[in-house]
Amino acid sequence: MSLDFLGNLERTDMCGTLRAADAGKQVVLMGWVNRRRDHGNLIFLDLRDRTGIAQVVLDHDLVPEGHAKGEQVRPEYVVAAVGKVRLRATDAINPKMPTGEIEIEATELRVLNDTRLAPFSPAEEAIQNEEVRLKHRYIDLRRPEMQRNFRLRHDITLAVRESLSNQGFLEIETPILTKSTPEGARDFLVPSRVHPGEFYALPQSPQIFKQILMISGFDRYFQIARCFRDEDLRADRQLEFTQVDLEMSYPRREHVFGVVEKFVSAAFGAAGVNLPTPFPRITYDDSMRNCGTDKPDLRLPGLTDVRPAFTDENLATLSIDLALPVVAMRIPNVGELSRKEREDNHPLFDQKKGAKFIDDFKRLAKSMPEAAAKVRELAGAAEADFVIIVAGDPAHHIKASDTKFSGRLSEREINVYAAAGNFRSELAKKYADKHKAFEVTDQVVQSAHERSASDAVDGAAAFHPIWIVDFPMFEYDLATSKWVPAHHPFTAPYEADMANLVSDPASVRADCYDLAMNGLELGSGSIRIHRKDVQQQIFASLGISEDEAKKRFGFFLDALEYGTPPHGGIALGLDRIVMLLAGAANLREVIAFPKTAKAIDLMADAPTTVTDQQLRELGIRVAKG
Ligand code: ASP
Repeated sequence: MSLDFLGNLERTDMCGTLRAADAGKQVVLMGWVNRRRDHGNLIFLDLRDRTGIAQVVLDHDLVPEGHAKGEQVRPEYVVAAVGKVRLRATDAINPKMPTGEIEIEATELRVLNDTRLAPFSPAEEAIQNEEVRLKHRYIDLRRPEMQRNFRLRHDITLAVRESLSNQGFLEIETPILTKSTPEGARDFLVPSRVHPGEFYALPQSPQIFKQILMISGFDRYFQIARCFRDEDLRADRQLEFTQVDLEMSYPRREHVFGVVEKFVSAAFGAAGVNLPTPFPRITYDDSMRNCGTDKPDLRLPGLTDVRPAFTDENLATLSIDLALPVVAMRIPNVGELSRKEREDNHPLFDQKKGAKFIDDFKRLAKSMPEAAAKVRELAGAAEADFVIIVAGDPAHHIKASDTKFSGRLSEREINVYAAAGNFRSELAKKYADKHKAFEVTDQVVQSAHERSASDAVDGAAAFHPIWIVDFPMFEYDLATSKWVPAHHPFTAPYEADMANLVSDPASVRADCYDLAMNGLELGSGSIRIHRKDVQQQIFASLGISEDEAKKRFGFFLDALEYGTPPHGGIALGLDRIVMLLAGAANLREVIAFPKTAKAIDLMADAPTTVTDQQLRELGIRVAKG
């Protein structure tokens, strides 16, 4: 069909904003045809823009020309409708639509653009095939759900900026083309044309720069920072992601917590959810003991120590390591599982932690009725709860440190708890429909989306932030039999533990903290090393030679020598916060142009090969095969 020009037509209103009070108003709306219904003399067009949908009526008797065009337009054509807002007849009111009380009686229709037949319609729910959605992302993003996610992301980002600015933080950008930052992932490298054979690294985080900004006297810095890490993708991980990154001078961790609690609750507030502060705290050891993970999901029942339910003899019969924890987990409402169902779950158990599990409770109850009953009692298991015991496996003695300090967990114990924790969260995901522990979050998110502008929804039962503190400074690497840093190497050890750095690395705690929520790590940070002597000591204890340290971080070590104030900070994953508040299962729902699990941008078709000329300029030859 022939297309019309926009001419000097100006949009007066957005589609989703018109209400009964606008009746009689002359309007010009522009948008996509969401749906079209042809009733002969009357054609109804649902016009969609990012605010919503308005119904336009083309009456053959009033606008014969517009009606003729209306016969030809198809979904996703771009049109302008000129007309008057009028109240719908009572029986035509649509209470499900915010604009359901009105319609536009058109006096003119301009068809501004047509469309190729799209592989799916934005008027429908998301299609199952995510690759098609990502390839035609521009169409996918037109869907109201995606429009809402990005509106939410905008509101959250704005609230974070405002909160941090009000708390005295300055937003400062740091370079994208830079030098490697050690965050434990692989770097993305960018070849330099001007210096053939040399490479920039994309920042894994702005870590070193934000510390230098403290040395530079900015006192409080933040950035909504893009970070790049070349690692395998997961539902909650992308190659590039956005952090709310901050650093402050002279803080103790309480100060960092205070700042974060303010901006996180502002972010939740922007999404219509009231999040109570202060957030609770737990030590790393207790988090492992209670939940088997350092990112606990407090919506699920914790682990229970059921060692007292067994005699030593019992444990020997069951081939359970007497020296290690014996814990039970319960997944509510799962009921009894058949042998086949239980076996299907077995691959979810991590075999590499030196632990084993008992999930055949009937059998246990037969051979050790007292112990079995006691386990259920200790775990507070109701009749329908599925109970599993996880314990150390003497037949599978992994290489791990046995070093133990009073009141703290040994590495080997941590491994047993971690095996239980992983199993618990995998099973909790699998049986979510039965235990329904996650539903409260979906409901709160839903009511927050539907709320009227003013009243926020209570998020206390749906979102469970928790600070994890007192992490070990090092973890034992089984592959190399070495103690390796559990955090980036600028993390300060506890002053009291400093003396043991070399003699007893397992005993050293780091002055770092994580913020977890609903089973996700939302962020992590630390008080930093601000003295060069300590920094050198840490590098030495990590096996980083002076030469290597100089080569990799020489500029930073130099900077540390020029009056560095004590400082500390944190970074929180913005994408993850938005994902939680959008009620999305995947980061890709809240990132406009994400990569697939295979690290491909399907829309832009990246990565691709480049021309020989480009390679020559960079002095690069690609090894074939
Ligand atoms: N740079 C750290 C990270 O990206 C956060 C921090 O320690 O502030 O995880």
